[in-house]
Amino acid sequence: MRKPIIAGNWKMHKTVAEGLAFMDAIKPEVSGTDVEVLVCAPFTLLPSLVEAAKGTNIKIGAQNMHYEDHGAFTGEVSADMLLDIGVTHVIIGHSERRQYFAETDETVNLKTRKALSKGLTPVVCCGESLEQREAGETKTVCKTQIVKAFENISLADASKVVVAYEPIWAIGTGKTSSSKDANDVIAYIREVLAALYSTEVSEEIRIQYGGSVKPANVEEIMNETDIDGALVGGASLEADSFVQLVNF
Ligand code: PEP
Repeated sequence: MRKPIIAGNWKMHKTVAEGLAFMDAIKPEVSGTDVEVLVCAPFTLLPSLVEAAKGTNIKIGAQNMHYEDHGAFTGEVSADMLLDIGVTHVIIGHSERRQYFAETDETVNLKTRKALSKGLTPVVCCGESLEQREAGETKTVCKTQIVKAFENISLADASKVVVAYEPIWAIGTGKTSSSKDANDVIAYIREVLAALYSTEVSEEIRIQYGGSVKPANVEEIMNETDIDGALVGGASLEADSFVQLVNF
């Protein structure tokens, strides 16, 4: 069975002191959970959070990385640099990176392959805009993004990827996809993965939902058959709320 993964995406929020206070508050409250707990923080917090997470069940992830090992890429961070400080996961292709930082399906694929080759777990995001949804293109858009993201990824590596289905219109807007709709798209993404690999592999890949998940709706979302967790922005910033998400 797939182990659900509840992940916080702090985006561009928190100082080191705020991050450490958050860790202190959640550690005792999430220690008994059966779900995988992941906190994805800005680069500046990562070494401190990795240190604070030692000996706990909390994993620490980055929100982006470059696909090259090193070079003249001002402002960028490589997979090796993340591994060097003990980071285990990295979000790739978040819609905000696609929208504001020229992330493309091609760079998402390059980054996903690099992360896997180094032993980092990529959390690969896909999802449609409101315009695309209203045009009935949700599944086509997700299929294109998933097929491209998994290009040249081996059968052995595919099941190590975590996918996050995040309809763009639901991110940070307070609008959530109905849990049935989200499950329907996620089940479709699993079919796409089954066609790319095999049913067995597609059944192993964890697919999260993201988009205004909060304590009030997490249980309903997690009760859906194909949804294996949540990638959460706003509601992951407060320790109390994150604890409620993990212990849904
Ligand atoms: C996200 O940042 O991936 C996200 C889903 O944000 P929010 O939960 O705030 O909608």
